[in-house]
Amino acid sequence: MFYHTDPIYPSSRYDRTTPSSWLQPRFTMARLAERRPQNTDGDIYVDNSCIDCDTCRWMAPTVYGRVGDQSAVTHQPVSEAERLAAMQALLACPTASIGTVKPPQDVKAVQASFPIAIADSVYHCGYHSEQSYGAASYFIQRPEGNVLVDSPRFTAPLVKRLEEMGGVRYLYLTHRDDVADHQAFHDHFGCDRILHRDEINSGTASVEIKLEGLDPVQLEPDLLIIPVPGHTRGHTVLLYQDQFLFTGDHLAWSESLQHLYAFRSACWYSWSELLKSMKRLSHHSFEWVLPGHGRRFWSDRTTMQQQMRLCIEWMEKQ
Ligand code: SF4
Repeated sequence: MFYHTDPIYPSSRYDRTTPSSWLQPRFTMARLAERRPQNTDGDIYVDNSCIDCDTCRWMAPTVYGRVGDQSAVTHQPVSEAERLAAMQALLACPTASIGTVKPPQDVKAVQASFPIAIADSVYHCGYHSEQSYGAASYFIQRPEGNVLVDSPRFTAPLVKRLEEMGGVRYLYLTHRDDVADHQAFHDHFGCDRILHRDEINSGTASVEIKLEGLDPVQLEPDLLIIPVPGHTRGHTVLLYQDQFLFTGDHLAWSESLQHLYAFRSACWYSWSELLKSMKRLSHHSFEWVLPGHGRRFWSDRTTMQQQMRLCIEWMEKQ
């Protein structure tokens, strides 16, 4: 039986059958009157609009924790580093469920800290979008043209930073769920959007590059797109420099299982196809798993191969 406590999708608050519910107006700020009583006393708090997407907890794990089925501040930041991480999580929160009691004086500095460097030329965009179910998105800075991986919120401070870093050449979309503000990014940066044809719907019919079939696509020498049907029919992942694997909702680290895994309870197309895709993916070598949901993972290549085997063994038992 499948059982674990990792939040995958904030499914209790999203209704996949009624897309209009994804597009409800976002809160622009947390509401002090709705502050969760589970928060520790102090300046930063989470209100009861939290959708349990997990973002704040992996961005600032010493500050935010899961209490009940939502986040709360379990420890008020003490150091500057903790405050910065807590405020970055505040800006990243897809539903603006995190607030401060006092007007924050450091917002501009925190805005300037995005996108957040992960390694080399790879960044976490922050500014998660509720329309992408709160998924993480990434930015690859490369001389041949920058790549945005899945869509963050189209918000002025992030757009300004991406302009300063050279703009966006491609907006690569792993699958239909994480497309959010793709049109606004295309209109602003003139980037080519990439999505598998099996993921296209009326909202994404205008994407410039439509992928087909199951064969990997070498977009550029350092960019390999690998189809991995399962979570959705046309889901793909992106391998950059044979090192960074952007996995969308195909593969992630599980804190509770302590190994790589796939989302059994959020598999919308086919678990058996997902397993086949995972086996094909295990033939590739990489060091980073950078997911939309779930936790990221880094290791040497040998350990990663072991992790992929563990993941496949675990999947076969589900
Ligand atoms: S980032 Fe926001 S919505 Fe996500 S768990 Fe934290 S408070 Fe909740």
